[in-house]
Amino acid sequence: MPGFEFFGAEEKKEVNDVLDTGILMRYGFDGPRKGIWKSKELEKAICAQFGTSYAQLTSSGTAALTTAMAAMGIGAGDEVIMPAFTFVASFEAVLSVGAVPILVDIDSSLTLSPAAVKAAITPKTKCVMPVHMCGSMADLDALQAICKEHKLILLEDACQSIGGTYKGKALGTIGHAGTFSFDFVKTITCGEGGVVMTNDAEVYTKADAYTDHGHDHLGVDRGADLHPFLGYNFRISELHAAVGLAQIRKLDQFLLIQKKNQSILKSYVAQVPGIEFRTVPDPVGDSGSFLSWFLPSQEAADKVILAFKEVGILPGNFYWYANNWHYIKKWMHLKNVQSLNQLNEAQQKALQQLNHTTFEKSDAIMSRCISTAISLTWTEDQVHEKGALFLATLLKALS
Ligand SMILES: *Cc1c(COP(=O)(O)O)cnc(C)c1O
Repeated sequence: MPGFEFFGAEEKKEVNDVLDTGILMRYGFDGPRKGIWKSKELEKAICAQFGTSYAQLTSSGTAALTTAMAAMGIGAGDEVIMPAFTFVASFEAVLSVGAVPILVDIDSSLTLSPAAVKAAITPKTKCVMPVHMCGSMADLDALQAICKEHKLILLEDACQSIGGTYKGKALGTIGHAGTFSFDFVKTITCGEGGVVMTNDAEVYTKADAYTDHGHDHLGVDRGADLHPFLGYNFRISELHAAVGLAQIRKLDQFLLIQKKNQSILKSYVAQVPGIEFRTVPDPVGDSGSFLSWFLPSQEAADKVILAFKEVGILPGNFYWYANNWHYIKKWMHLKNVQSLNQLNEAQQKALQQLNHTTFEKSDAIMSRCISTAISLTWTEDQVHEKGALFLATLLKALS
């Protein structure tokens, strides 16, 4: 999964280009920057790599989601349907624009259940936000059909699935807008950073201004820019963009390694009777950053975790069901509305309602699921060794 595993001379070279000019900001200073525009270059590279018309870099993936929602007019009172299994950033972004997160069940794809989305639609629904978790994708055909029928915005949180595809198109480029995160543990990293991708010129122009205090970027200099609407500072710095530029050039190599390592490991785990794998709507599009597998029962999952711990192979295996950050079960701060400032009434009501909502379908899946992070640094021999140890440990634990 993480690009930081392959950090070296290429990243240093790009960062040094910026340090040589001393212009760390992405806008302005046209003379002193001597033609060095790393953010613009990275945006161009993102458009070419993923096949999107427009890319707007941001300071984080969370800021990218917030920006995308603002640019598409999602705000106070609007409901955004999203999954109960995701990273907390997804609902943070919804809350940040004043909208109401409506959490619904996932299915065996570990992403939004189209049936659960349908059942949650109300007259206030404005957006459906699938989260392509752990390197693989949601059923985008089904979700797109629902959005079309009900005239809803489809916003893809593709922060964890950089390089994944669905029917030949890059994840994050299929909905009205999509986002990546380039934080330190994502498939490619800027240290911190994110991007909004869209094919809609208007959404892009709004995102461009929103991330820079509303600057329309049409003036002869920054001071002469106008501010057609309110914005924030969600800018990326040139230093971060420079790192990302070196990383995106390595992405195809990362994906080849991930996919190969994932398939080798899978060939071992698949030999264990009773183990199943997540549903992948388009198997060739799995980015390979994780191998996610299901035990027959929660008890079996408990046994496996214990056995992995004993053998010393637990690190890198995620049991999200008991994890503080990725599943509704442990989001007490959300359910108890532990906000430092007051949320709007619609938000408060929806969050309190989560205490009376059950997620039995998601529980039944997540309580049996383990996701194994695929490292870029494993040699082929090491993956085979790891696979053999997984197999032996699983067979023993489940016998
Ligand atoms: C990492 C992540 C984000 C947020 O990205 P940051 O860059 O860390 O703000 C959003 N959604 C998901 C699913 C993520 O995994």
